[in-house]
Amino acid sequence: MVDLQGQYGSIKDQINDSLQEIMNTSAFINGPEVQNFQKELEEYLGVKHVIPCANGTDALQIAMMGLGLKPGDEVITADFTFAATVEVIALLQLTPVLVDVDPETFNIDPEAIKEAITPRTKAIVPVHLFGQTANMDAIMEIAKAHNLFVIEDNAQAIGADFHSKEGKTIKTGTIGDVGSTSFFPSKNLGCYGDGGAIFTNDDDLAHTLRGIVNHGMYERYHHDVVGVNSRLDSFQAAVLRAKLPKLDIYNEARKAAAIRYDEALGGHDHIIIPHRSGDCDTHVFHQYTLKITNGKRDELVKHLNEQGIPCGVYYPIPLHNQKAYKDARYNEADFPVTNQLIKEVISLPMHTELDNDQIDHITKTIIEFVNN
Ligand SMILES: *Cc1c(COP(=O)(O)O)cnc(C)c1O
Repeated sequence: MVDLQGQYGSIKDQINDSLQEIMNTSAFINGPEVQNFQKELEEYLGVKHVIPCANGTDALQIAMMGLGLKPGDEVITADFTFAATVEVIALLQLTPVLVDVDPETFNIDPEAIKEAITPRTKAIVPVHLFGQTANMDAIMEIAKAHNLFVIEDNAQAIGADFHSKEGKTIKTGTIGDVGSTSFFPSKNLGCYGDGGAIFTNDDDLAHTLRGIVNHGMYERYHHDVVGVNSRLDSFQAAVLRAKLPKLDIYNEARKAAAIRYDEALGGHDHIIIPHRSGDCDTHVFHQYTLKITNGKRDELVKHLNEQGIPCGVYYPIPLHNQKAYKDARYNEADFPVTNQLIKEVISLPMHTELDNDQIDHITKTIIEFVNN
C-alpha cells in the first residue's frame, strides 16, 4: 500500500547525517531538532502554535483535555473513521455521539451533526477523512450557533488547503479551535516511528496544552493540572524536518497518481471514483478509495490479493457496531450511509513513489474483474 523505502532513498544522506548528529550530541529529548521542527511546521501551516507530542491519538486526547471537557459532555464525531477518534472521547469519560457521513466525501454530515445536538453537546470532531477536507464552512457555522468547540482530526490530511466561502485559503487542522495530526510512518507526513502534533491559534490554549504534554508542569516540579507524558523525540523530529520541505511535492505526487487512477477507472459501471467537492477543498489522497456498487467488493479484494496487488478496506465495521462503542442510544436507521459504505469501499495503493506502469496494471486488473 505504501513504499517508504523508495522515499527514504531520495533523502537518505540528509536523514542519516542528522540522526548521527543527534547521537553525537545526545540531545535525544527536546533537542534543537524538535524546537526547529515546531517552528517550521508553524510556518508551513500558518498557525501560531504547534505543540509536538508522541502520536496522533495523544494529540486528540490532549486537545480535549486542554479544552477542559468534563465527564458527561457530549462530543459529536463521525461513525466512519479510525477508532482513535472515538477512543479518546470514551477514555476521558466524555460521551461520544456518533453520526452518519456524506455518501460522496465520506466526511461527517453537517445535517446529522445538527440533529445530534443536545444541551450537553460541547464539541464537534470532524475528521478530514482519506485526505479530503470536511465541510468546514457548515461545521464552523453550526459550532458558532451552538457555542461548541471544533477539534479537527487532521491525521489523514496534513497539507490540504481549505478554501472558505469568504475566499480565504487555510490549512486543514488550523480552522477550528484546535487540530491534531499523526506522523505515523504511512501518513502523508510520516516519521520513522511514532509522532504527533496539536495546532492552535489560541495563545492561552497553547500554554495549557504545553503543560499537559509535560505532566501538567508549567514551572519545574509544580504540577498545576493532571497531565500526561507525550513527547516527540529528536530522531523523529529530524526525519520530519527532512520531509516537511517536500510535503507539497509528496502531496502533488499523490494527486498525480489519483488523477491517473481516475482517468482509467472513471466512467466504468459499478465503479465510483473519489468525489471532489469543487472549489472548497483540496484532496491530498491519504487514501484513494473507490466504491464498488455491484456487491462484489469482497470478491475484488480477494482477486487483487491473489494477483499480488495490495488493497485495504477502510473501514469494515462502523464504530457504532464496535463492541467497545456499542450503545443502546444508536439505531441502525441513523447510519444508512456508513452501513452502505462499509460494504462498498476499497482503497488502492497510494504513496509518493507509485509509477504509471504500476497504476496501469492495477486499474486494468480491476476493470477486467468488475466487467466480468
Ligand atoms: C492515524 C490516525 C489517528 C491516530 O494516529 P496515531 O499516530 O496512530 O496515534 C487518529 N485519527 C485518524 C483519523 C487517523 O487516521
